[in-house]
Amino acid sequence: MSELPLAAIRAFLETHAFPLERELLSRPFTELLPRLQELRADVKRLGLWAPHLPRDLGGLGLTLVEFAQVSALLGETPIGHYLFNCNAPDIGNQELLLSHGSEAQRARWLGPLTRGEIRSCFAMTEPEFAGSNPVWMDTRAERDGDDYLITGHKWFTSSADGAAFTIVMAVTAPDAPPHRRASQIIVPMDAPGVVFVRNIPVMGESGSDYMSHAELRFDKVRVPVTNRIGGEGMGFALAQERLGPGRVHHCMRWIGICERAFRLMVHRAATRELSPGEPLGRQQAVQHWIAECRAEIDASRLLVLDVANRIERDGAHATRDGISLIKFHVAGVLQRVLDRAIQVHGAYGMTDETPLAYWYRHERGARIYDGPDEVHKSAVARRILEAAGMRKGRK
Ligand SMILES: Cc1cc2nc3c(=O)[nH]c(=O)nc-3n(C[C@H](O)[C@H](O)[C@H](O)COP(=O)(O)OP(=O)(O)OC[C@H]3O[C@@H](n4cnc5c(N)ncnc54)[C@H](O)[C@@H]3O)c2cc1C
Repeated sequence: MSELPLAAIRAFLETHAFPLERELLSRPFTELLPRLQELRADVKRLGLWAPHLPRDLGGLGLTLVEFAQVSALLGETPIGHYLFNCNAPDIGNQELLLSHGSEAQRARWLGPLTRGEIRSCFAMTEPEFAGSNPVWMDTRAERDGDDYLITGHKWFTSSADGAAFTIVMAVTAPDAPPHRRASQIIVPMDAPGVVFVRNIPVMGESGSDYMSHAELRFDKVRVPVTNRIGGEGMGFALAQERLGPGRVHHCMRWIGICERAFRLMVHRAATRELSPGEPLGRQQAVQHWIAECRAEIDASRLLVLDVANRIERDGAHATRDGISLIKFHVAGVLQRVLDRAIQVHGAYGMTDETPLAYWYRHERGARIYDGPDEVHKSAVARRILEAAGMRKGRK
């Protein structure tokens, strides 16, 4: 694509998405669905739909680096990615089915997903096992003729409420080496034996529909073996492949949140008076927060775009250190920027009159999902130390 439609996207968000935020933050998501569906149709009509998808699937055909810039813009509002059909976890499932789905899987699931007719989710983490160790899980998919029988317990399956299907990570070869034990299998959410236990209260909110995280049980759920994505035992490899670009998507969305929080903070500092004629922004502490935020956001953007460039040039595996660096670094910047922005707003920052408090609650997870900070830091540091001669070991 020669020129990114950034101005058109910004205009759409400012006209239609920002004004909806107060309602979004004060009412159940499901109550806003009819309005949101209209807006999604408008995005399609404007030719801005699914910027990450190839053109033959109705998207804009953007590269990872191009999409990263769009993603930062969409991140400025909690519903940006949803309106443009590039929201997690659907975007990861779309990319997975696009690169590894069979023809039948693409026709049945990918088509409706790309057109925005259905939503999906990804069920990997289990309450009883450390999600930080992705090869350790209990959910089994046992062969029964041409079918799998899936039994297991998952949680934090984002957006499962209202989803048409989930991709389940399940052990299919218990005796294989750890990284070859699991497979990814498509399970329709209405299949007999799929139990939707609840939307988990997260930071005081259970949420609904797209904005929720569910606990699920799979009680001998029968699906055909043809629902497996890729080869048997490929689950872990496919998850790794998904996470490279996925972390760039998350980081650029967080940078969008930072930009919006920064604008709100600056506006408040410039206009809130501590006494007549004395704006808050005259305080040195506030000035330092503004300067520190600007430097941290700019540096994060450059770091993430560099990593996105390197993924495109060298592949995700060769860029794994960079991917780990952006994941924990930008999550930390996000938390600091939101914290300072709320501090500058005082009590107003704690209300849902701005999206700051919503992000502060829900983006705390940024330091946990897709690999907690500590896992990424240790992985990078270990490789640096080993390159300097430290012996390989378990710890
Ligand atoms: C908002 C949100 C959305 C999510 N969405 C999904 C989803 O859609 N699908 C899905 O399958 N999962 C999802 N998850 C789950 C997420 O992937 C897991 O929470 C994550 O993998 C961590 O696993 P855990 O929670 O079991 O923590 P644990 O593995 O129990 O780890 C707990 C803590 O231990 C520390 N730790 C762990 N390993 C190490 C180490 N090697 N070195 C030092 N310290 C360590 C870290 O501080 C970590 O936070 C989501 C989580 C959140 C918060």
